Amino acid sequence: MTTTASLPGQPFIAYQGEQLHMEGVRLVDLAREHGTPLFVYSKAAMLSALAAYQRGFAGRKAQICYAMKANSSLAVLQVFANAGCGFDIVSGGELLRVLAAGGDPAKVIFSGVGKTRAEMKQALQAGIGCFNVESEAELDVLSSVACELGLKAPVSLRVNPNVDAKTHPYISTGLKGNKFGIAHEHALRAYRHAASLPGLQVVGIDCHIGSQITEVTPYLDAMDRVLDLVAEIEAAGIAIHHIDFGGGLGIDYNGDTPPAADALWAQLLAKLDARGYGQRQLMIEPGRSLVGNAGVCLTEVIFTKPGEQKNFCIVDAAMNDLPRPAMYEAFHQIVPVVPRAGEAVTYDVVGPICESGDWLGRDRSLVVQSGDLLAVLSTGAYCMSMASTYNTRGRAAEVLVDGDKAHLIRQRESAFDTFALEQLVG
Ligand code: PLP
Repeated sequence: MTTTASLPGQPFIAYQGEQLHMEGVRLVDLAREHGTPLFVYSKAAMLSALAAYQRGFAGRKAQICYAMKANSSLAVLQVFANAGCGFDIVSGGELLRVLAAGGDPAKVIFSGVGKTRAEMKQALQAGIGCFNVESEAELDVLSSVACELGLKAPVSLRVNPNVDAKTHPYISTGLKGNKFGIAHEHALRAYRHAASLPGLQVVGIDCHIGSQITEVTPYLDAMDRVLDLVAEIEAAGIAIHHIDFGGGLGIDYNGDTPPAADALWAQLLAKLDARGYGQRQLMIEPGRSLVGNAGVCLTEVIFTKPGEQKNFCIVDAAMNDLPRPAMYEAFHQIVPVVPRAGEAVTYDVVGPICESGDWLGRDRSLVVQSGDLLAVLSTGAYCMSMASTYNTRGRAAEVLVDGDKAHLIRQRESAFDTFALEQLVG
């Protein structure tokens, strides 16, 4: 009989016998067929993460807009579009991806502090649902672009509630010192200004306080601050049709214990009900919590290199594929695809890139030899979408697993692809 051992926080990835599987697919087979580094995503894991939000919002008017910056691969967007999601975008390029994946532009919200006139025009012509405006200057420009097109832009103002999300400073966005949103104390003035502009139609309010949030309190605090503002804005005669609470819910990377999406929303909805806003149209913009634990990156050990102070396990994935450790000192679990017997050695798992910052995991206890396959876990979010071609390394291929089927959803980029748009002079 084959034994199955699930990995903590990874219900769709498990050792069956001596082999790591995602759903019904052996990961070693995918690595052999497509090479490494290789991103592999579980469709069931994505839909299960989405289902937790859907359960949380049962009986409410709510739209889930997947924050596609977390993972913008077309087939991933297609999974969420088919499941009824809208999308939170931050560029005209992301809008093109939504349309290419079959997403509904009317369910798109456009966030970001630096939208250009061209992007505003593109989004207005596509008929997106709402612009999350992040400054007073943006209000003026958006109104003028909309007037030129003879349209009215639906807007929601992203307010900065000045709440500490208690997360890494690089992914905290709701504090006074952050570049995002309009300060809480200036929000009413900005709403009055928006309501006076001919090219705008105020439809909502928005906030987003950060990413990888593992506590409920920052959300509850932000909600209180936002609802205080809704009351003030509506008292000034400006109707707020929807309230958007952003994204940010964390995932289990290394024993982290974020609330489940449905449990979080039970508490938030109780507060909304208590304050009389429970029947409003709600929006959220989750990214990481929908895809983060749906992905692994498979990588092959090139060499092991014993050192005086450290042992290194040099693998073929690197910071260009997996930028989070280098950027945020982030932790990803690293496990063997086919565990081997032997004495474990403590390694720093590093890539081939010429930077000391090119590490994937520090002080990991592993039994490995060159040629072995490792799986870097929790790599569905902010990995492929942040990948680069640094050191002229083509970006990895991607596979989507659905039950016992595996679909190649992105071909491996060749070194030639990385310089295909360049030319010599003369
Ligand atoms: N919405 C906005 C405006 C964001 O900036 C982000 C990410 O930083 C998100 C949503 C998604 O956040 P997360 O992936 O943490 O859910």
